[in-house]
Amino acid sequence: MSKSLILALSLLTTTLSVSSALASSGSHWGYEGKMGPANWAQLTPENGACAGKNQSPINLTGFIESDLKAIDFSYRAGGNEILNNGHTVQVNYAKGSSMKIDNIQFNLLQFHFHAPSENHIMGKSYPLEAHFVHADKEGNLAVVALMFEEGKENSALAGAWSQMPAHAGDKSVMKTTADANKILPASKDYYRFNGSLTTPPCSEGVRWFVMKEAVSASKEQIHAFEKVMHHGNNRPIQATNARPLLK
Ligand SMILES: [Zn+2]
Repeated sequence: MSKSLILALSLLTTTLSVSSALASSGSHWGYEGKMGPANWAQLTPENGACAGKNQSPINLTGFIESDLKAIDFSYRAGGNEILNNGHTVQVNYAKGSSMKIDNIQFNLLQFHFHAPSENHIMGKSYPLEAHFVHADKEGNLAVVALMFEEGKENSALAGAWSQMPAHAGDKSVMKTTADANKILPASKDYYRFNGSLTTPPCSEGVRWFVMKEAVSASKEQIHAFEKVMHHGNNRPIQATNARPLLK
């Protein structure tokens, strides 16, 4: 083996180990103990926003009556991949579904779940909450949140739930394409506020829209999700600070 080849290979190895270290540090956080929410801001410099003043989730209360415009949903069936990233179960969405608000088109990227709910509505926690994550063409984020009450089985979740990825790192192609339209409630009325990602790096400037109407999921469906997560995957409630909550 030539000296230059050995040098090239050793450089390659160094590069690979650096990039894998970065990849693992990026996901090195959790919901419990030292890696838990109270320490997210200190885990890495990139997580500084986790100590910010406009963080999510919050307890939605003390609303200001506002003339909120309807969200123009333009969703089609497009959930084509399901994965367990160790922090949540997520359904990735194909291009072509969006919502329009503030005259901006936000494309639906994925939806995922938290149990119990992250946001509370007037002090009430729900057993399950879905987040539909959207981005506009400049990368600005908008999240539509939906609460689930325990009740009858939710048929719109059945396809994803039948492929519930049991272990962190599991990912599979959806046998039946999931349709976010069918998961949303009949009424699209919402509460609105500014917030952040609820997971590191907790980036702020996220438009939050929490559906007023909850939908149902069966005890078995809720339990199936809790079982693969092994523990709650809800960040605790953050201070509202100076933010107006609109309804
Ligand atoms: Zn979420």
